[in-house]
Amino acid sequence: MEKYDAIVVGAGTAGCLAAKTIAESGLKVCLVEKKKREEIGEKICGDALGEHHLKFLGLEKPTGGELEAKIDGIKIYSPDENTVFTIADKDFIGFLLNRRLFGQWLLKKATDKGAVLQDNMNFRSPIIEKDAVVGITAKNMATGKVTEMRSKVVVDASGYFGMVRKQLPPEMGIDRDIANQDVEACYREIRQLKQETENTRFCEIYLNQTASPGGYIWIFPKGGARVNVGLGICMRKNYPNPKQQLYETAFKKPIFDGSLVLTAGSWFDPVRRPLDNMVSNGVMLVGDAASLVNPIHGGGIGPSMLSGYFAGQQIVEALSKGEPTKEALWGYNKKYIDTYGKKQGSLDIFKMFLLSCSDEDLNYGMNEKLMTEDDVLKAGMGDDFHLNITETAKRVFRGLRRVGFLNRLRLTVTMMKGLRAHYNTYPTTPIGFDAWRDQTVKLIEEGRQKLL
Ligand SMILES: Cc1cc2nc3c(=O)[nH]c(=O)nc-3n(C[C@H](O)[C@H](O)[C@H](O)COP(=O)(O)OP(=O)(O)OC[C@H]3O[C@@H](n4cnc5c(N)ncnc54)[C@H](O)[C@@H]3O)c2cc1C
Repeated sequence: MEKYDAIVVGAGTAGCLAAKTIAESGLKVCLVEKKKREEIGEKICGDALGEHHLKFLGLEKPTGGELEAKIDGIKIYSPDENTVFTIADKDFIGFLLNRRLFGQWLLKKATDKGAVLQDNMNFRSPIIEKDAVVGITAKNMATGKVTEMRSKVVVDASGYFGMVRKQLPPEMGIDRDIANQDVEACYREIRQLKQETENTRFCEIYLNQTASPGGYIWIFPKGGARVNVGLGICMRKNYPNPKQQLYETAFKKPIFDGSLVLTAGSWFDPVRRPLDNMVSNGVMLVGDAASLVNPIHGGGIGPSMLSGYFAGQQIVEALSKGEPTKEALWGYNKKYIDTYGKKQGSLDIFKMFLLSCSDEDLNYGMNEKLMTEDDVLKAGMGDDFHLNITETAKRVFRGLRRVGFLNRLRLTVTMMKGLRAHYNTYPTTPIGFDAWRDQTVKLIEEGRQKLL
């Protein structure tokens, strides 16, 4: 029987970073992936990645085929398209990727360090003994043979469906289900336009609560007169069909006249706070499997790589000291929450605010600068944004016609601050977690009740 220090299920961006980090330390790690090797990286995605994520992880900038276009920032359009916020901050500089080649680039980094890839292998179930995950079973898609593979730790990097997570017994203390209201159903196409657009350096985001309730429409330039265009919708009850909505709105724009569909498809984006706990005995969750996506813009490539990196580091540390118990792996929770998770948490509240706004609210709020570019920039970077007194007075004056909007914005800012302060108290060990978690659920529920 095959035996590894770690098995990573899924060779997406999260899995490759986890495998690379573990292999770098000399430990034996196996990446189990259901796709064939050459298909790894293929993903229905907006393909946008902020440069700062790569910098943080010590990865070089993409320069080969994995890079399709460089981006200087984002433009956010009000629903009536009369107001455009242009955010060209250094934290919004980035890249439009060729997703398959970027995936292959990351995979090579992992295998070059010694990670073993078992592709065309479909994970079936975790092997659990004495309250700990000790391996997996997987089916070879070419031969149909089911194999048992053993390891000290199993990392669930299988993406949105959290294939390992879903099969863990409740006693392991990891949430198995993600509520639909925390997920965006997305439809995306890559289109060849008849001619290059005027804008080739900015990702465009169109807010439109009628077309894409709780989400947005995006048009991202990919170079060579190609664009990545899509739409995400919050899966609250009776949500409309994303493909239909995209065809009835974005594709009516003149730039799409005579354009060609290069590729198309649908997928899900879990846009919420991170799972409150992502570890148990012999098991860890990374990337989409742990809901590590920015709740506002839906970007998950950066956080998924970050989580893979932190999880890998934690495994190396835990195994150097002894058994990979829940206690020994807990530091990963703390590290992720302190670095990116608390921002995700507070943005969950900002998402509720946006969900509560009508198109008229957003038009008025953006046109009259009740909500400013600076607010969006700070919120996007996870900074606390306070409305100072002079500024607030000016906004109140401008907002007299929409007092409700301004009040909700102020309440949102206060609640985001409260949640962030709470995340700063994330426990350093599993002791105290239950109380912390109860308070988190309470604060999020309070947000829903007051804002939605
Ligand atoms: C439409 C859309 C647009 C998006 N746009 C952006 C964007 O522009 N920028 C951004 O940063 N993020 C974006 N995201 C989010 C981003 O794509 C994800 O957050 C990110 O890819 C998560 O990486 P991951 O490695 O966790 O999961 P995934 O990339 O989903 O990788 C999971 C891997 O596990 C494998 N797997 C699954 N089941 C099994 C199994 N049973 N056995 C073996 N292997 C298995 C899969 O084949 C896959 O290779 C978007 C998401 C969507 C849906």
